[in-house]
Amino acid sequence: MSHRSPLYSQRSLVLTLVALLSAGFLATSLLSYYASRASIRDNIVNTELPLTSDTVYSEIQKDLVRPILISSMISRDTFMRDWVVNGEKDPDQMTRYLNEVMTHYGAYTAFFVSNTSLTYYHAKGVLKHVRTDEPRDAWYFRVRDMKAPYEINVDPDLANKDNLTFFINYKVYDYNNRFIGAAGVGLTVDAVIKLIDKYQQRYQRSVYFVDNFGRLVLTGAEGGPQGAHIGQKLSDLDSMKELVGRLPKPHSGSYEYSGQGQGHFLNVRFIPELNWYLFVDKLEDSALGEIRQSLYLNLLICLLVTLIVLTLLNRVVKRYQDKIQAQATLDSLTELPNRRGFDLLAAQAMHEAQREPKPLTALLLDLDHFKALNDTYGHLAGDQVLIGFARDLQSCLRHADIVCRWGGEEFIVLLKDTDGKTGQMIAEKIRQHVEQQRYAYNDQALQVTVSIGLTTLQPDDTLHSLLSRADHAMYRAKQSGRNRTCMEMPHSSYEPA
Ligand code: GH3
Ligand code: MG
Ligand code: MG
Repeated sequence: MSHRSPLYSQRSLVLTLVALLSAGFLATSLLSYYASRASIRDNIVNTELPLTSDTVYSEIQKDLVRPILISSMISRDTFMRDWVVNGEKDPDQMTRYLNEVMTHYGAYTAFFVSNTSLTYYHAKGVLKHVRTDEPRDAWYFRVRDMKAPYEINVDPDLANKDNLTFFINYKVYDYNNRFIGAAGVGLTVDAVIKLIDKYQQRYQRSVYFVDNFGRLVLTGAEGGPQGAHIGQKLSDLDSMKELVGRLPKPHSGSYEYSGQGQGHFLNVRFIPELNWYLFVDKLEDSALGEIRQSLYLNLLICLLVTLIVLTLLNRVVKRYQDKIQAQATLDSLTELPNRRGFDLLAAQAMHEAQREPKPLTALLLDLDHFKALNDTYGHLAGDQVLIGFARDLQSCLRHADIVCRWGGEEFIVLLKDTDGKTGQMIAEKIRQHVEQQRYAYNDQALQVTVSIGLTTLQPDDTLHSLLSRADHAMYRAKQSGRNRTCMEMPHSSYEPA
């Protein structure tokens, strides 16, 4: 058999519900969070970043591959080679040729540097002579000595980044395969930089190019990761340390890494025409921030719902409990406390009176010949009299006094802080009041009298001993003719005159 108190089981019910609701809400919120997180990651890694990479690459091809082809064509051009081999006689011819190339193909510039005269020809005329001691001319001697047929050089000397220029420097050979100079075209990379900027801003990802040695070679207007400039190595950047540790040399693929406490998604793609790697990088936070926020919102809503459910539940349970408790302790006919209610109140009152100590008087009231009243006027009439009597009884008492329907037509009253003498006066007041009262039922005025047994609380009394004395007194009141008050004291009895 279970001995759990109602309070305990109510608390455990509430706790179980809280646990169930929280676990359910938490599980669904987290599940949907992780599911959408996984699909967003998947989308970023497999679709978004590669797509950006494709677009940037095709733009690069449009911007760079054509100039490479043009430069390659110039370097193989028979006019160019004949003119050089024949001693660079008419510079105008070369200028016209370069101008034609520039305007026709929409290049930013077109140039040729002769290895014999070290003259720098370009579309607008002869620019200068290149010199080994001039740092700005170093590119030429590098091209002269390199093995590859051409190089792509971003001129870092130009202060204005908007005019950053790519030079395609092609080696030119005569018909005997002897190096005779370098030719090519230059182009602004505005379009590529604008594209990089657009992607960086609109999709919150960083786009930049890195060479074989892990050096930044082209970035958007704002620079590379952490605002790094062209020429800086990725390994020098704090945010890239973890990645470079795993990937000392750039390599095509998809990566996830963390830098400076933030997670990143990265797509690396090799661009063979440039011999560079295109990096498209997206911060995990910017991608997952939104769903994380919706998780928090979700959890907040769940918390609110749980709280609301609990409050409602608590209110319903409490109302229900109050009702049950009231039903259990009140008599439904007279709405006075019943025996159960009385027991609780009486124990408290007796305890207080014995502790203080203070006098306490108990009255046991029994309606006279009630059976006869029932028999004459009917049970419903009897009920009406009981209701009326209960109301009258209460009207004769103080609020603090305890009154109860003991059963049938018997009532008990505990008069707090009242000695026998005062108690007797009150009992008489009740008796007389009832005697004079008429209770209306179906146009009839019913009359009833009451016999009262009275006793006072003694220090060693229990509720039982107190009430059995009152019962004796009442019995004697009946015996001696009803409609009267009898008093019984321990070891002695007393009857009023
Ligand atoms: P006495 O003067 O000796 O007390 O006579 P009595 O008829 O009042 O005593 P008895 O105990 O023989 O009868 C009590 C009656 O009260 C019998 C019972 O039917 C009636 N009664 C008890 N409870 C109720 C009730 O809720 N409603 C009505 N109408 N009658 C009740
Ligand atoms: Mg009776
Ligand atoms: Mg009676």
